[in-house]
This record gives sequence, C-alpha cells and structure tokens, in this order.
Amino acid sequence: MPAESIFPRLEPLLPKVQKPIQYVGGELNSTVKEWDSADVRWALMYPDAYEVGLPNQGVAILYEILNELPATLAERTYAVWPDLEALMRAEGVPQFTVDAHRPVRAFDVFGVSFSTELGYTNMLTALDLAGIPLVAAERGDDDPIVLAGGHAAFNPEPIADFLDAAVLGDGEQIAIAITEVVREWKAEGRPGGRDELLMRLAESGGVYVPKFYDVDYHPDGRIKRVAPNRPDVPWRVHKHTVMDLDEWPYPKKPLVPLAETVHERFSVEIFRGCTRGCRFCQAGMITRPVRERSITTIGAMVEHGVKESGFNEVGLLSLSSADHSEIGDLAKGLADRYEGTNTSLSLPSTRVDAFNIDLANEFSRNGRRSGLTFAPEGGSERMRKVINKMVTEEDLIRTVTAAYSQGWRQVKLYFMCGLPTETDEDVLGIADLAKKVIKAGREATGSRDIRCTVSIGGFVPKPHTPFQWAGQADHETVDRRLKALRDALRGDREYARAVGFRYHDGKPSIVEGLLSRGDRRVGAVIRAVWEDGGRFDGWSEHFSYERWMSAAERAGVDVDWYTTREREENEVLPWDHLDAGLDREWLWQDWQEAVSGGEVEDCRWTPCYDCGVCPTMGTEIQIGPTGRKLLPLTVV
Ligand code: SF4
Repeated sequence: MPAESIFPRLEPLLPKVQKPIQYVGGELNSTVKEWDSADVRWALMYPDAYEVGLPNQGVAILYEILNELPATLAERTYAVWPDLEALMRAEGVPQFTVDAHRPVRAFDVFGVSFSTELGYTNMLTALDLAGIPLVAAERGDDDPIVLAGGHAAFNPEPIADFLDAAVLGDGEQIAIAITEVVREWKAEGRPGGRDELLMRLAESGGVYVPKFYDVDYHPDGRIKRVAPNRPDVPWRVHKHTVMDLDEWPYPKKPLVPLAETVHERFSVEIFRGCTRGCRFCQAGMITRPVRERSITTIGAMVEHGVKESGFNEVGLLSLSSADHSEIGDLAKGLADRYEGTNTSLSLPSTRVDAFNIDLANEFSRNGRRSGLTFAPEGGSERMRKVINKMVTEEDLIRTVTAAYSQGWRQVKLYFMCGLPTETDEDVLGIADLAKKVIKAGREATGSRDIRCTVSIGGFVPKPHTPFQWAGQADHETVDRRLKALRDALRGDREYARAVGFRYHDGKPSIVEGLLSRGDRRVGAVIRAVWEDGGRFDGWSEHFSYERWMSAAERAGVDVDWYTTREREENEVLPWDHLDAGLDREWLWQDWQEAVSGGEVEDCRWTPCYDCGVCPTMGTEIQIGPTGRKLLPLTVV
C-alpha cells in the first residue's frame, strides 16, 4: 500500500481551520522512520483532539517502545476537529498521522486507546476518513487490524462490530508480541489473509477477537451465553500485567507538544494499580495488583526526561500517588534536587490526610501554594462506607485545617452524585461538609480569604467493579439533587462566596452508562449517533443527549434497561468472558457488603482478602520500601 505523505494536500486546508498547528507534527522527541525500513507499522490513535491526546501516557509509551523495535515503526493520529473533517471530506484527504502525514489505512495495525467510552464516535470518524470500512466484517486484506486498548477495552462489546481485536491491561509487552505475530505472518506471505492473522492473535490467548465469539440472548434480552465459535480460541481472554515497572522506564523521551495541551508536563508513573478498594473505581479494580516503580528508577526517569524535554513541571502519576511506600523520601529527594531551579513538581493529591500536606509542601518549594485537591467522593459518612472510601469527617477537617494554616488558600473537594443507595440527605451532606471546611479554615488562619471548590461528577457503574450490578441513578434524580445542593450552598450568605460549585448535568452520565455496560446491540446506537453527526461526545459543546436518545429509539435499544436496571447475581454480563482477574464471587460479595455497610482494607498492609487477581494472573503485590535513596545530587 502506498504511503506517501498527504501533507501537500493537507497544507492548503490548514489556514482555513482552527488551531492548524495541531496537525503539523514535528514535535521534539517525535520519530519519523523511513517507511521501507519497517516491516510492521502501527498507527496509534488517541480518539480525541490533539490537545487532549498528546499528553496521554498510554499512547506515548507504546509509541516509544514500538519505535525502539527494529524494523517497526509507529506514528500517531488524533481526532480532527469538525472544521478540518469537512474540508478533508470535500478534498478527499484521508485520516493521517501527524508524524509523517501518512494515510492511516496504509499501516498494518490501527491501535486506538480508549480512556473513556465517549471517544467511540471519534473512532468511527477516523475509520471513515481513513477509508477503512466501519464494520470489521467488511474489511479486506489491505485494511489494517483495528485494535482497541485502554480502560474502556475491558468491555469493548458495544464497539465489537467495528473492532478486529482488543487488548486488556498493560500494553508494553503485548504490543511487542502482536508486532512479532504480524511480522511472522507477513514474512510467510500473509497465509490465510486477515482471518488467519486474527486467528493467530486470538489463539495466543492475549488478544480478544470479537468475531470469534458468538452471543446468544434470552427472549427477555439478557445474555444467555458468550461462546467461542472456533475450537482453538480461549473461552476467556485475560488481561496483561507488567510485573517489573523498572524494566519499562517509559516515556524516556517525552513528546513536547507544539500546540497548547491539557497537561504540559513530564509525567512519571510511580506505581501502577491500586488496592484501596474504592468500589466505584474501575481503574483501581482492573489494574490490580499494586506494582511500584523503585525510587531510584523514578529519580533517573525524572532527571533524564527533564533533560530530554525541557519541561519545567514534573508530575508523579498513579491512582493514589501518596501511597507509594517511599513517597516521603522521593518527595524530599526530588525537592532537594530541584530546589532553586525552574523545575516544579506536582502530585495529584487525592488522599485525605495530613501526610499529604507535608508532601504538597515539599513539592511547592519552587512554586506558589495555590490549590490542593482531595476526593472524599461521598457527602456523608454512610455514603463513604458504601463506596469503601474510608475518610471520616474528622480526617477531612483536620487535613484541610493543616492545609489552610500552612498557607494554602484554596482547597478543591471532589464528590460524586448518583452513587448506589444515595439519598437526598447524602448529597446535601456535601454542603454541610463544605461549610465546615470553610469554618475550620477561617478559624485556623484568622482570615476570610480562603476558598473551597466543590466539584461533582455523575457516578457511572462500571464493568469489573462491585457496582457492575447496580442500577444507575436516572438523570432527573441526579439533576434534582444537584440543584438542591446548589441552593443549599448559594442560600447561605455566610459561606456562599467562599464555596465554588462545579458540576455537570446528569445526562452525559447516562450515555456513558449505556456505553460502559452495553453489549453488542449498543453498536447500532453508536453508529446511528455518528451518522447523525455525533463527534467529540466528551465535550459538552458537542455532546447531544437528544441525539443519543433518538438514535437509541431508532435502533430499538432501551436505554433504561442498560443503565438504571439493577442486575441479578447470575445474569451473564457482556464482559464476563473478559478476565480482569477479579473473582466474580468476590465482586458480588463486595457489592453485598457495600449495601450492608461492610468495609474492605487495603491488601498492601493487611492480609490478602482473595479478590482473585494475584492467583489468576500469577502476580503479586510489589511494594517497597527498598531502602534505596535517590542518586546523589547532579546539576540539572
Ligand atoms: S489477590 Fe489478594 S493480594 Fe492480590 S490484589 Fe487481590 S486481595 Fe490483594
């Protein structure tokens, strides 16, 4: 397949579109290889605009790892804005990579990383612009293998018709394994066409190929069973787990964006996985067990990455960064090393305890003490027990008091609305909590110049979590509770000006709920929405609830049945044949405990409570302390 640059055709369109710089590539640390130097070629997509997609760690890591392999190349592509899409259609310009502006259809593998289900329509746009048939069954031998990854790939069923394959879990090793399977198949002269290639990928047990599985339904619409339709395909497809993060110190050469992006910093993942057991948190459940990167590797990555990129902000990433067993030494070591330089450090602060303030103080040595974020998630103690977020009101007040008295002026609190068993009182409890936070801050500082921002997201039950059986709250209930909360906050003159309130209405959560727990029948809705102009559904200015509901009606899909309906224990769930390692019985038991107020400890510090992941996946918790220290100070 020819792969000449389409840039000469793209360039005349760029002056006519917004932010043309996002399409030109050439970023520091980007890679362009000779097309003929590679025999396996990947186009990697983050299905959102460049400004959101470029900082994505998953894509950045795979891009680097694949480009380091001999005879392999990887390029990136992002969702184009509707203005450029219209011009590309008018001029016949195909979906292109930003690295060498090659047409996506010329690549062997088109890998799409989904952090959220709201990117599905953008994948359809990219396929269509690329000239790749939307439906996998209609693709020919010249079309790339369309492969999904990322957290949403743990239930790829709603997009099963559009995918050739999906991969669950960590991508580093499986991307290399897939590359080798493709290489071998091509070297042998592509025996059996794409069907055999997919078969080879599926037989390995590491890649899910939806078309090799049939779904049967009960007359009432529930799934009867999902079974392989080929003898050598496994009944269940397992997730991938990288066990030694020190062996995979990526990104080594962080991409430096040309255009403005949502995060402009070098992010280093300090551990993967989380065993705190928050029942709403899909990321925590599907990335178990905890695997820490060592303090010395983190130190070396920070130093190297800053040197290679010139970024002046470094973020220490993970699902709960303050939980790294050597975070204290790490914070102090990095703060010492970069004190007086223009490199600042940041830690997404979500754990509610005073230790977090000490860390934040270390990390703000070079910067301003602007804002700290904590996530109590539930407004009442009862609610926090249901979701297994063990934060007492006392903890929260003590922590924010420490923050305010140490010079922080702004605290952001993150909550969810629509949680299982939630009542109006639980949500109104958020207003009480916010007022107590302000009161404590005023008392601690003697000043009225402090603020607290309450930020609320709608809860969406996710696959592979204890809440996968829960009925989602309808959007009317969520909106009513949020309105009552807003009135309670605004109606109190003493606190109204000190408390900011950010929330979204409940409608997007219903669509996310439909896509999260949907099955293959939901694919017709996604396609109909896309045909109706649906693009960038994660952006409020592009999202249309009415478009989704009208498409669902036309497709004969009952949205309530997929979202607000509570499932029975023995109902076959669309993702039951996809194995995140969690024992189904343990998940059900944890769901029952949620309703009865039972709590689960973190297995990092207490005995294993048999969630199933470690024995199923052959993994184990990997934490320090290693007792090692950061390397001696070097001049940066
Ligand atoms: S199997 Fe045990 S040790 Fe492993 S993540 Fe689950 S609870 Fe923790």
